[in-house]
Amino acid sequence: MTRAISLRDVTKIYPRDVVAVNRLSLDISPGEFVVLLGPSGCGKTTVLRMIAGLEDITSGELLLDGELANAVPPGERQLAMVFQHYALYPNMTGQQNISFPLKIESPGRDTTNQVRETARLLGIEDLLDRLPAQLSGGERQRVAMGRAIVRRPSAFLLDEPLSNLDAKLRTRLRAEIATLTRHLGVTTVYVTHDQAEAMSLGDRVAVMRDGVIQQIGPAREVYQRPENVFVAAFVGTPRINLLRAAVHAPLDGRLNIDFGTQRIQLPQPLSPDHQMLRVQMGREITVGLRSEAARIASPQEMRPTEALLNGVVQHVEFQGHESLVHVSTGAHPARVEGLEAPRPPAARRARGQRAGRKAPLRRLVGRYLSR
Ligand code: ATP
Repeated sequence: MTRAISLRDVTKIYPRDVVAVNRLSLDISPGEFVVLLGPSGCGKTTVLRMIAGLEDITSGELLLDGELANAVPPGERQLAMVFQHYALYPNMTGQQNISFPLKIESPGRDTTNQVRETARLLGIEDLLDRLPAQLSGGERQRVAMGRAIVRRPSAFLLDEPLSNLDAKLRTRLRAEIATLTRHLGVTTVYVTHDQAEAMSLGDRVAVMRDGVIQQIGPAREVYQRPENVFVAAFVGTPRINLLRAAVHAPLDGRLNIDFGTQRIQLPQPLSPDHQMLRVQMGREITVGLRSEAARIASPQEMRPTEALLNGVVQHVEFQGHESLVHVSTGAHPARVEGLEAPRPPAARRARGQRAGRKAPLRRLVGRYLSR
């Protein structure tokens, strides 16, 4: 069984009037994997704890499968929560730790098969006889996951479960968590402040700030169509370039974006994203330009759908499969980062363009964000 979780206009106010969650609404379908993403203190953990029943809801409604659940005791919610600090019992083996929730439920019961099946799912059959002190961080986290899933909960609530692990293990385990929760078909709410983790995991990502969801949607949509500057800047590595600019009235019907020291003319016909610029005419805007949407090219290589921004290459960061090129453009803020693909001519070009030489940056197809 898996459950639908809904929050309706939920607010949490801690003592001293700390508003941790502010009129938040969220509908999570059965079997869905939703990630709550945001900076430290934005209220992610509080949302999870309210769903789990570990924190009272100040106002608003929590519905589990459509039933009001604000007052349902935590133990009756059939939810399993895994925390950042996986508290395993140090004097119990993996087997005993995983079987613990079952033993609490019915003390005399033989749990061997259930524990073995859970251990098989997590690939930890060989570790069941060991004490936590004899396990690595990643192995301990798997045992903690085992303890959470052994009762086959109807939903998982995971609070930064990988943040104690090193980068390599984190990447591996997050793929495993995604596979496991999909295999079990269990509704999952996953809290993280790591945007790369969020983007790789969820069916939907909810970006939070100051107790409010700023945007919720599939990772690709949040990345490509951020609804405001905060979301644009919080999501994506390298960080999006945010350039201040003004939209000018067209003389010849082609819109101009004025970056102060230089202007670009938008290609015609305007794309749907650019259409909204007509209403911004004469106003200051922030242009969001993802690194991969800009590349180094000469004016001769321009296509009709591209716009040219002149700049000077300041620095090239080799990153293996691509290079990050820092370009000063005279726009404000002055520096723009563009990615160079690994094609040999492109790489040669980037190397040749040392500081002081003009390097046109083309294909300015970033999304235009109103301020
Ligand atoms: P982090 O990523 O650092 O865990 P978070 O996004 O999970 O942060 P919360 O832990 O939900 O944020 O905290 C949200 C806000 O509520 C913060 O301002 C925090 O200081 C405050 N807060 C959390 N717990 C309490 C509490 N028990 N009493 C008072 N204020 C609290």
